[in-house]
Amino acid sequence: MNSSGADDRSSQQQAETRLVTAGRDAKAQKGFVNPAVFRGSTVLYPSADDLHAHRAEYTYGRHGTPTTRALQDVLMKLEGPQCAGVGLAPSGLAAISTTLLAVLKAGDHLLVCDNVYRPSRNFCNGLLARYGVETSYYDPQIGAGIEKLFKPNTRAVLVEAPGSQSFEMPDIPAIAAVAHARDALVIDDNTWATPLYHRSLDQGVDISMQAGTKYIGGHSDIMFGTISANAKAWPIISENIRLLGVCAGPDDVYLALRGMRTLSVRLAQHYRSGLEMARWLAARPEVARVLHPALESDPGHAIWKRDFTGASGLFSIVLKPAPQQAVDAMLDTLTLFGMGYSWGGFESLAIPFDCDGYRTATKWSPGGPTLRLHIGLENVDDLKADLDRGFAALKAASS
Ligand SMILES: *Cc1c(COP(=O)(O)O)cnc(C)c1O
Repeated sequence: MNSSGADDRSSQQQAETRLVTAGRDAKAQKGFVNPAVFRGSTVLYPSADDLHAHRAEYTYGRHGTPTTRALQDVLMKLEGPQCAGVGLAPSGLAAISTTLLAVLKAGDHLLVCDNVYRPSRNFCNGLLARYGVETSYYDPQIGAGIEKLFKPNTRAVLVEAPGSQSFEMPDIPAIAAVAHARDALVIDDNTWATPLYHRSLDQGVDISMQAGTKYIGGHSDIMFGTISANAKAWPIISENIRLLGVCAGPDDVYLALRGMRTLSVRLAQHYRSGLEMARWLAARPEVARVLHPALESDPGHAIWKRDFTGASGLFSIVLKPAPQQAVDAMLDTLTLFGMGYSWGGFESLAIPFDCDGYRTATKWSPGGPTLRLHIGLENVDDLKADLDRGFAALKAASS
């Protein structure tokens, strides 16, 4: 639960300032700027009477500590006035699974975008199906046309903006208008933009979750997830977080809090460098297409411009047709771009992907090998030089 509303002076401050000032109370921590890493299960009650009445600021480690509360405070202030509470989870996937388990029950129907983060799809097709929840996948660019996919028992719609790997931009306000007319909840995986660049709760989303593992942590050293909900959804989210016993470890919570303090400068650089690299790549002869909604040529650009205030450093490219071993030679030549899953840390990454194999509602035929790139905080000229060498290796291995 959160300790304070957004009705104080901080609600007038800009997001960058709120990221620095929220969740801090030097007096409560003997003058130190940052809170301690509270490690705790047991909280001692001063009297039997207090124990019977559950009269205590903190009741049990799983239900929160001063460290978790500080982080929830920052997240709440960043999400904006629609946010009624923030839950913390041990990973981004746990934030998704907790949210879906909280809002759905046997016999319900769920709509999920076809470009959803793949483990989210696995959760729906696996555990949710086993528990009697039916999932249908929709074209992420469907907009208000999602109406025809609604069934009488459709209880929730999951959106991801932009979608994993292929970066289509959904029209969230249009989808939300349809969902709310049908009394369904809208859940947004907001990991890509974070609430700094996309205030999803202001755009009709009821529950906005993030893999805090990515930009919130920002240093590739934690697993963490967040669930932010509006007043309509927060009671069911908070109740089910308790029922499921979901909580995050104290060190990860502390590192997430520390990550929040620098989120605005890190993300601004990822945005700037990412866009510069995207433009550079779009002009390369080896590249057929760059999938980045902040590029004017991108099909999702108008929606991005309307609904987002920035972009992160993650996007994809489609290469001109080339044999697999040539793409592998390119990847093996890169030294600044590491090969590995996850993203959102300070370092650049490149990973091949094939999302056509598992889509069910849409066909996605890129026409060439696809790579997802994360642009880190390195100098962009160094990154271009690294990719230059990679493209030379691609060319050499193609002939
Ligand atoms: C990484 C990721 C997740 C899952 O987060 P984990 O912390 O790795 O469990 C969920 N959604 C998106 C869009 C992601 O990129």
